[in-house]
Amino acid sequence: MIDAGAVIAQLRATEGRSGGRREAWRDPWAAERERLDELARATVSDVVIERDAFANTWYVLGGESEETILVHSHSDCVPGGGWLDGILGVHAGLGVLAALAREPRRPRTVAVVDWADEEGTRFGRSLMGSSAATGALSAEELADLTAEDGAAAREVVSGYGFDVAALGTPSPRLADVVAATELHIEQGPALERQGRSVGAVSGCLGVRRRRIAFAGTAGHAGALAMADRQDPVRAAATFIAAICQRAEDVSGLATVGRVQSEPMIATAVAARCELTLDLRHRELGPLDALAERARALAESSRCPATIVDLYRQEPVRFDPDLVQAAAAAAGGSGEPLVSGPLHDSAALAQADIPTVMLFVPSIGGISHTRAEDTAEDDLAAGIKSLHKLVSALTNRS
Ligand SMILES: [Zn+2]
Repeated sequence: MIDAGAVIAQLRATEGRSGGRREAWRDPWAAERERLDELARATVSDVVIERDAFANTWYVLGGESEETILVHSHSDCVPGGGWLDGILGVHAGLGVLAALAREPRRPRTVAVVDWADEEGTRFGRSLMGSSAATGALSAEELADLTAEDGAAAREVVSGYGFDVAALGTPSPRLADVVAATELHIEQGPALERQGRSVGAVSGCLGVRRRRIAFAGTAGHAGALAMADRQDPVRAAATFIAAICQRAEDVSGLATVGRVQSEPMIATAVAARCELTLDLRHRELGPLDALAERARALAESSRCPATIVDLYRQEPVRFDPDLVQAAAAAAGGSGEPLVSGPLHDSAALAQADIPTVMLFVPSIGGISHTRAEDTAEDDLAAGIKSLHKLVSALTNRS
């Protein structure tokens, strides 16, 4: 039996110490990870604790076979983030490990991993620890990353035990992983709307992210006739309305999270307007079609557009057998969900590691704010489902 109440108590204690302040590569995060080590030593007999070359922590409970079931998530959070995003999966994983350690026979090894820097808030690179562990993050990519204050990622992460020279070589323990599981909050409204406490997740949406700048001609707001204007803000607004409508028509998502005009004067037609565009879809074909549509719309504007690709992620499909096992552990009702947000699970699935996730509802679909919350009954149901799933996978051979 897993003690879900004890896991929730640990989450509340963590929130009291470092809530909203566990940005990766900062001291409150590192201090909380020391606390996680202490907790694992105190609650999981015979646990082996290792930091791999990329500052990921591995809590390993040996079994009869080296074949390993991975239970993973992240202890970092966005600045001002909530009490569950990421850390839920780490505490739940340690709770599962404590429960398994009390059982007499463990056919397979179980490892709980706390990935370093899932959120990517400081250097703009999400899934850093897990991508480094699979070998997907290159030294060149890391060398290009800097924080807004000018700090180089390479130097900052080295100070927290990240071995830059090891990039390109996967973490050795990953080779033994036969199944990877992650419990996370949904961060969206689907489970709550459906009245479900836990849901299996079948994959993650694909992403295309770009920066688009429209160039225009600055002028006086009172002097230029509308027909004579080359107004980049108007061009951006026309573009935004069209691409958002298109995304809605094809069941995708289009987000313009940042719009900036220059020179930003109320009485001047702007000279330039820059925006970010984040497109998501569960299927590759429609995602690429949406991205192509965005390019065509921008390029047909009367204000010349410059387009820079910022990020791309193909749609991720989790392992069908594991999705079935997770749905059974979650009680079997309802269709599996597709995650809009990205997770470390996507990095593992892309490295061909059989992967699945479990979601618990987010009240009001809210996350990445202090208001993020999940009912305790739902948290307990999710923690118990994770235990059930890992127990079943541990005993498979
Ligand atoms: Zn997360």
